[in-house]
Amino acid sequence: MSQCKVFCHHDRFRVWQVKQLLEQNGMACFIKNEFAIGAMGELSPFDVLPEVWLHDAQWLAKADRVIAEFNRSPSDDTPWFCPSCQEQNAANFELCWQCGSEPQSYAVKQQ
Ligand SMILES: [Zn+2]
Repeated sequence: MSQCKVFCHHDRFRVWQVKQLLEQNGMACFIKNEFAIGAMGELSPFDVLPEVWLHDAQWLAKADRVIAEFNRSPSDDTPWFCPSCQEQNAANFELCWQCGSEPQSYAVKQQ
């Protein structure tokens, strides 16, 4: 029985939601790197993401379906990270509250 990474996301809350979801569906799992962000000052937060790991890789296909379903559900409240200053912004902010930059998807289109 081998362990297997099934999900990672910069938003620790979302990672916890996935873990709970998998456990509700009978798949034992655990989180890696949960406290990595902020603990390693020399790394960008995007270098070390919290990860959800399955205890048994045979659940991977089922877990993928559960997570795909989770990702299809409305995520309008998912915060975004400013591309300039890395500040976390609420989903309903159109500009970074700290430096006034636009989210990355918009910034890329304009350049
Ligand atoms: Zn910013």
